[in-house]
Amino acid sequence: MIIQFLCPHCRTELEFDDLSQDESPCPKCGQTIRLRVTDGMRQRNMVDHCAVCDCQTVYVQKDFNRTLGVSIFVAGAILFLICAWFNRLVEGTLVWAAFVVADGLLYKFLPDVTICYKCYAQYRGVTANPNNRPFELGLAEKFDPLDKKAGAENPAAEWKGR
Ligand SMILES: [Zn+2]
Ligand SMILES: [Zn+2]
Repeated sequence: MIIQFLCPHCRTELEFDDLSQDESPCPKCGQTIRLRVTDGMRQRNMVDHCAVCDCQTVYVQKDFNRTLGVSIFVAGAILFLICAWFNRLVEGTLVWAAFVVADGLLYKFLPDVTICYKCYAQYRGVTANPNNRPFELGLAEKFDPLDKKAGAENPAAEWKGR
């Protein structure tokens, strides 16, 4: 699995894929980062808790880049408007439908990403753990009550889009 997270010391975005070590220095600030890697993570490749902050609850969602999704939507809408401008409503509707289908297919075949409620660490390339549920707003508020307004709907997506 690959863990993507912010260094707890200097907030640099880091990526770890070596779970054999329990700690390693941050490549940016040099301070030691402790990873609480469990046997389940090492042997079964499953996320059972957050290795970065030791939070027990993580959620699973589609690894969806919101900017990409919106771009596809906007491109389809513009093409439709161009067709409508030239009185090609049938073609325009077909183009629009093709874009909607493409968006849906893209979403369907996207891999999952497991995300920590507390520190937003992201785990990719993991074996699905049935104990991990989709995102729940109530839980997010519990773990991060101050961040309710700032994109609490899906904070990690915003972070990723940057
Ligand atoms: Zn650092
Ligand atoms: Zn965490």
